[in-house]
Amino acid sequence: MNNLCKFCGTPTVEVILTPELIHHGRLECSTCHTFHGWAPKPFEYNPDFDLPFGKHKGSKLKHMATTDQLDYLRWMVNNTAVKGNMRAQIEFHLKKHNAQ
Ligand SMILES: [Zn+2]
Repeated sequence: MNNLCKFCGTPTVEVILTPELIHHGRLECSTCHTFHGWAPKPFEYNPDFDLPFGKHKGSKLKHMATTDQLDYLRWMVNNTAVKGNMRAQIEFHLKKHNAQ
């Protein structure tokens, strides 16, 4: 975090983890303790992610490694409204297999 604090101008905005909340953490200035917003949860690849629908419904990403399967996943992210974590998981999986 190299954001300058907009209140005191120091480059000390840091993430304070908040495991008790649904948020990953709060961004807070460690000099003046002003709240700067919520920190997004860092992405974590999950090879056990199950495809929730489609031709390969129920398949885990780690079992989707043939050319045909990777083609299907690429088709999915390019042609369907897959969003959020599912899209991030599939895109990372394709990148990992050099199949973007
Ligand atoms: Zn500050």
